[in-house]
Amino acid sequence: MQTIRGFRDILPEQIALWQKVEQEAAALFESFGYREIRIPIIEKTALFARSIGETTDIVEKEMYTFEDRKGDMLTLRPEATASICRAYIQHKMYAAEPFRKFYLTGPMFRRERPQKGRYRQFYQIDAEVFGIDSPYIDSELIFLLHTLLHRLGLAGLSAHINSLGCPDCRPDFQKALLNFLGDRKDKLCENCQRRLVKNPLRILDCKAQTCRQALEGAPATVDHLCPDCRTHFETVKNSLEKLGVDFMVDDTLVRGLDYYTRTAWEIQTTTLGAQSAVAGGGRYDRLVEELGGPSTPAIGFAIGFDRLVEVLEQLDDQTYEKRPDIFIVSLGADAQKYAFEWSCKLNTMGIRTDTDFRGKSMKALMKRANKLNAALVLIVGDNELTQKKIVLRNMETKEQTEIGIENLVNDLAQLIKN
Ligand code: ATP
Ligand code: MG
Repeated sequence: MQTIRGFRDILPEQIALWQKVEQEAAALFESFGYREIRIPIIEKTALFARSIGETTDIVEKEMYTFEDRKGDMLTLRPEATASICRAYIQHKMYAAEPFRKFYLTGPMFRRERPQKGRYRQFYQIDAEVFGIDSPYIDSELIFLLHTLLHRLGLAGLSAHINSLGCPDCRPDFQKALLNFLGDRKDKLCENCQRRLVKNPLRILDCKAQTCRQALEGAPATVDHLCPDCRTHFETVKNSLEKLGVDFMVDDTLVRGLDYYTRTAWEIQTTTLGAQSAVAGGGRYDRLVEELGGPSTPAIGFAIGFDRLVEVLEQLDDQTYEKRPDIFIVSLGADAQKYAFEWSCKLNTMGIRTDTDFRGKSMKALMKRANKLNAALVLIVGDNELTQKKIVLRNMETKEQTEIGIENLVNDLAQLIKN
């Protein structure tokens, strides 16, 4: 049996970097007042179809949708924002205080063509803010993302930002776009010919080469913003400059989901080949209301966790493998009895202790201690047990000392913690 195409195992040898990223992210989010939320990975299909948009790639061809035994249409979540909105509305979180900040880490599912940096089950680190339309929150989120990536060692990244406008200015832009596409219709891919009628803005995000060419010189949303959207975008840019965040305005950036309004952004790297986006986000001021909640401005981003780890692996030859504090070499049945007891006790005290009960030779056990890169080795044999003195070897300095058996666990703990 093998994993399904596009799905993969993340093995213990690889996990240290994942944990490091998760811990850094949680610590940073918590200090900015974000709270973790955990929600199901399956929702009713309608939630995603309505929020992400019927004519997006995700809904048109990438969702894992199935009928359950009672005939309900269900979908493995392709992203987290819609589900978090659902939870926000379902639990009436807006009632006591609409201004809420969340973060979430977990798997998402999209049936795309698998390749490096693109999987059918992938992970995202997500942050969302509800109930506030201030441009400072847009900047806070971009700053957070920038800071996190910087702390993880990814320097020199620039955020591509754009403003997509709002329902007030969009009709004007849409008119300009349709005008522009008027005599280029035949050059668009089949999909986009349909979109021309149903959802022309989607064409801007089409990856097909022909469409990319047809769009050269297309009008930009930033040139059609209403005064409020323009002021909002100016404040975002100015406040990012103040904080020293590197960004560039990219007026071709529209993102693959229909619910975005105003600020949208993406962080790209050059080290991932075609899969260049490590993170993306945007404002979605209409979505909570469209899903049946009260009118609530909101904004968020998602980091592609798999891609981030792949970039970090390329940058960094450091291994984050945790080494044992101590390895117990036990020779003989009696020694094993002690080794078992001591290692259990030391481990519960937070001192990582490894041992081996396979009855191997001294030489083999020392080799194993070396391989695990243990800082200290405790060597226990019949001799040591009768003399009630155990040999402790510092693997770095090669220094050996003796330690009494009576109070061994506490003495060792003391020694290691100092
Ligand atoms: P792309 O343009 O690469 O398809 P996207 O715009 O579809 O990305 P979003 O929906 O914005 O991606 O999701 C946010 C992040 O999640 C992306 O920037 C990317 O790093 C990651 N991501 C998206 N799809 C996948 C996937 N199939 N496998 C791995 N990571 C992914
Ligand atoms: Mg995509």
